[in-house]
Amino acid sequence: MKRNTQQGSLILEVIKSAKRPLTPLEIHQRASNMYPRIGIATTYRHLKALAEKNRVVGVDYPGQPPRYEWADGEDKVHFACRSCDKLFALKDTTEDIPPAKVPKGFTVQGFEVMLYGVCPECE
Ligand SMILES: [Zn+2]
Repeated sequence: MKRNTQQGSLILEVIKSAKRPLTPLEIHQRASNMYPRIGIATTYRHLKALAEKNRVVGVDYPGQPPRYEWADGEDKVHFACRSCDKLFALKDTTEDIPPAKVPKGFTVQGFEVMLYGVCPECE
């Protein structure tokens, strides 16, 4: 139980310190640097538990691998680098985009925006 709690906090720490959404594999890689015996199945189990407790949120875009980020409650816009395939969480400074006009009978409840381009490391 104690080991379990430690691994959970370690995984949360990895996600917090990353400052960008990470794939489960990246999270596992970073966690293993500090806790070499942590398994990939354990990593997935902790990610699921952390997401259920709203400590982390899943970041899912079409054509992108699923990632996780810290649920810090900030407004963020995601930026995908087409060169290194990293996903960044940027402070959202965009104006609210009005939802698209849709045919009668459809009710828009939300929309998602993902920016893509080249990150500073790849410029
Ligand atoms: Zn890049």
